[in-house]
Amino acid sequence: MQQVTVLGATGSIGVNTLDVLSRHPKCYSIYALTAHTQWQKLAEQCCRFQPRYAVLATDEVAELLRQALLQSGCETEVLCGAKALQQVASDTAVHTVMAAIVGAAGLLPTLAAVTAGKRVLLANKEALVMAGGLFMEAVATHGATLLPIDSEHNAIFQCLPAGYSSVEAAGIRKILLTASGGPFRTWDIQALKTVTPEQACAHPNWSMGRKISVDSASLMNKGLELIEACWLFDLQPQQIQVVVHPQSVIHSMVEYVDGSVLAQMGNPDMRTPIAHALAWPKRIESGVSPLDLMAVARFDFEAPDLERFPCLRLAQEAAASGGTAAAILNAANEVAVEAFLSEHLGFDDIARVVATVLQQQSVLEPVSLSVVQEADQEARERALALTHSSRHPINKSIH
Ligand code: NAD
Ligand code: MG
Repeated sequence: MQQVTVLGATGSIGVNTLDVLSRHPKCYSIYALTAHTQWQKLAEQCCRFQPRYAVLATDEVAELLRQALLQSGCETEVLCGAKALQQVASDTAVHTVMAAIVGAAGLLPTLAAVTAGKRVLLANKEALVMAGGLFMEAVATHGATLLPIDSEHNAIFQCLPAGYSSVEAAGIRKILLTASGGPFRTWDIQALKTVTPEQACAHPNWSMGRKISVDSASLMNKGLELIEACWLFDLQPQQIQVVVHPQSVIHSMVEYVDGSVLAQMGNPDMRTPIAHALAWPKRIESGVSPLDLMAVARFDFEAPDLERFPCLRLAQEAAASGGTAAAILNAANEVAVEAFLSEHLGFDDIARVVATVLQQQSVLEPVSLSVVQEADQEARERALALTHSSRHPINKSIH
């Protein structure tokens, strides 16, 4: 019986993780579930899964959860705050940690799990984008097992040879990172100025949290994934080619020097990579329906348009410059996406804010976590100042 902590249990990945875990009650039990402020949803999950601990961000919501659990006779102990998150990610009893908090907030608890040598299922790509060098060093030093949950990275992992150590040793020519192209793949540059949060969050193939949905629509998600892939598989940015594949059935590919191209396919459902990483190197049922190739009928491929989707170019440039550039990109993007979601910034302004912050801020060597955290903080302040001075709140009459 493996004890699992799910960080970000109430989110899209968290809920999918609990769905897979619930199919295998003899193999997994839940040690802790965490959420930011969604205490009602966490209360339901605690009643169903009976974890030992539940963690929320503040005292106020933790108290509401405590009362709710008391009334329903659930014995889960409620904790709160950043230290508690780190504790439930690193406790001796824990075997596996699903890192599914969104954004930079996931970095410290995920690092705590890594430093405790856990089996870490990484959905929280922003942690790796921010602090990839330090993160991978901690994985090696503490003997953690890092398994990618992002569907593309999980696909690449599945297409690599067992015992993969480097591109050269494995005979790899390049990685083909697939992208759906998002909801605005065919929109012209003028139309992109009028995008609303609802439109951006309506992804054609995947149902996800709001932040990653906006990132998918701007192609920033693909840029973050490119940086994530560089760290996970020890690649240079130029070894990764982004390929738009609107059907989202091929989740990524690995091209070898002999001309072979290995692809991992499946229905676009995150329970497949979650089940793969939970059970690896074994396989377990995930609840995902079998792929019906006759229904898919065809595969299309096209190049990404960096003019309409400049966020991908900005991420490629940040990956090439190294240092704290990716942390700056990520922090500025988080602030800009938040401003877009609260209708204080236009969709096409997200790239403008990120580009300006990258131009303004010096890139440093990320020699320590505090250097990364300071770069993150500075970029957030710069981005916030820019979003306040932008031409929005957006004019709703244009929608
Ligand atoms: P989501 O918004 O649906 O859920 C986020 C979870 O994190 C929630 O449980 C929320 O309560 C918690 N959270 C948010 N802010 C927090 C904070 N400051 N402190 C503590 N907890 C906090 O997001 P999601 O779509 O599940 O994505 C989670 C992560 O997985 C992201 O990094 C995303 O990029 C990655 N990911 C998601 C998908 C997907 O299909 N949803 C696919 C690939 C990768
Ligand atoms: Mg992905």
